[in-house]
Amino acid sequence: MHYFQSRTSLRDALIFHPRQFKFMIIVLKPNSSDEQIQHILEKIEEMGFAHDLSKGEKRTVIGVIGEEDLLREAPLRALPGVEDVHAVLKPYKMASREYQEEDSVIDLGYGVKVGGGHLMMIAGPCAIEGKEILSEIAHAVKASGANVLRGGAFKPRTSPYSFQGMGEEGLKILQDVGHDLQMPVVTEVMDPRQVDLIDKYTDIFQIGARNMQNFNLLKEVGSTNRPVLLKRGMSATVVDLLMSAEYIMANGNKQVILCERGIRSFDSSTRNLLDLAVVPNVKGLTHLPIIVDPSHATGRPDLIPAMSLASIAAGADGVHIEVHCNPELAKSDGPQALLPNQFDEVMKKMRSMAELMGKTIGDPVATA
Ligand code: PEP
Ligand code: MN
Repeated sequence: MHYFQSRTSLRDALIFHPRQFKFMIIVLKPNSSDEQIQHILEKIEEMGFAHDLSKGEKRTVIGVIGEEDLLREAPLRALPGVEDVHAVLKPYKMASREYQEEDSVIDLGYGVKVGGGHLMMIAGPCAIEGKEILSEIAHAVKASGANVLRGGAFKPRTSPYSFQGMGEEGLKILQDVGHDLQMPVVTEVMDPRQVDLIDKYTDIFQIGARNMQNFNLLKEVGSTNRPVLLKRGMSATVVDLLMSAEYIMANGNKQVILCERGIRSFDSSTRNLLDLAVVPNVKGLTHLPIIVDPSHATGRPDLIPAMSLASIAAGADGVHIEVHCNPELAKSDGPQALLPNQFDEVMKKMRSMAELMGKTIGDPVATA
């Protein structure tokens, strides 16, 4: 009996695997029937491999994962309905364009989508500081056209003496305000032990730059059903970023949104160095959406509007902007926050740029 006998999910296979894996793609013939696909999946299971079905409008592929030696010998090509079988050469597999040609479109809640022409406009304070202030900021950014509200309840601060966030109390506030305004919310999860708690309150998990390679955390959010906003680590290469996305996907969750937030450089005139070329670069390599966070990338309100517009022009699937009504009193990242009227101004320009790019900024749809 093969090791994978009776194990059909990639997640199970990856958890229990004893040896080196290989990932092969089966490309199905156009117009292959559901019965044929079902038959192929059953045969793959009989051979003792795990599988993942990716049904696109143009083509359907099946990812097959198994021990290298066994997979090399397997008669996959002989299955009826199979057009081609090949290995994925890139180290990231499910995240690659080779595996899925069409852009992923991810549902974020309240009818908001990202990817495939839908833009995700995240705005809100760095940290949740209280219900009144969050509500005030949320009303303002929603009126300007933001379709996702952000706010950190667990903050990854460089200093242990800085404000660490309101914790669960903050999560409750974020959820309440999101409900009141009928808009999806995103908040950072820093530790695998927080995933269950945060899952109760948020629509989208955020993995911060400092945790992009916290593989246990990636596995944990990979076993949930919520979209994950994965921020690029400050020294991460494009391949590192895509491998982290692969971790989440291989654990069963394909709803990954990438985020460029600036990388470390020698120049201290901006907080980080915004790598805008990464947007079209990544788009050639993956079907996953990628957004840009000009707030953490530049750290400077005078640069954020121009970089927001440039992000949309570069083909980004959205932006992530910190907004505060009173930046001077903000408990975290005040100096880089836009005022609501500044956000409103840049949103207007981004709308025009979105139109030029043939993209839409969907408003959240009331569900109650
Ligand atoms: C944040 O979004 O507030 C944050 C801490 O971002 P990053 O992980 O990109 O530094
Ligand atoms: Mn911040």
